[in-house]
Amino acid sequence: MRNRQASNRLNFKTVSGQTTCLDPVRSDGINRGNIMAVREILQLGNPQLYMKSKPVERSELPSVRTIADDLHDTMVAFRDKYGFGRAITAPQIGIMKRIVYSHTARPLVLINPELYDLSGETFALWDNCMSFPDLLVKVIRHKTCSIQFLNLDGELVEHKLEGDAAELLQHECDHLDGILAVQRAIDDKSIALRSQKDWLIV
Ligand SMILES: [Zn+2]
Repeated sequence: MRNRQASNRLNFKTVSGQTTCLDPVRSDGINRGNIMAVREILQLGNPQLYMKSKPVERSELPSVRTIADDLHDTMVAFRDKYGFGRAITAPQIGIMKRIVYSHTARPLVLINPELYDLSGETFALWDNCMSFPDLLVKVIRHKTCSIQFLNLDGELVEHKLEGDAAELLQHECDHLDGILAVQRAIDDKSIALRSQKDWLIV
């Protein structure tokens, strides 16, 4: 990652079917031009969301940059519409490869991520997902864990995660295995419409 600050909310407009981003910062922090590739996000009910994604082979690494850019653009457009969204995975845009794009404080591309050292201590939260933006689901996640993945240069990276970052990447790694947050609902009262969120207690 180059140290360029990405804004949480980008300005963009669509002209003749092409979306132009007025302040594009791509997956690796490089400004590559002003054309965005906003992909359709598969929605709950689409059988592809329940399928397991395949690992990225070393020979496929160069093509991951383009996929990561599409994930970035798609997430930015989603966030502009719905006001939330911290990460997205390749299978959510129909590419069955183990790639996560996360953008909280900075953009991060995680290739073939694997979680380990999952803590015995857990916590409950109302989770959300770009594949069912109108729903909230109460799930239990591990409080801390570690993750290892390849970056865009094919280097192995390891991070210790806790709190928000830990639950976020547990959610995203589930996507790569075809598991959705709705399947992890704690009980039969753990799915709610987002519009009813003022009633919800963790
Ligand atoms: Zn999701």
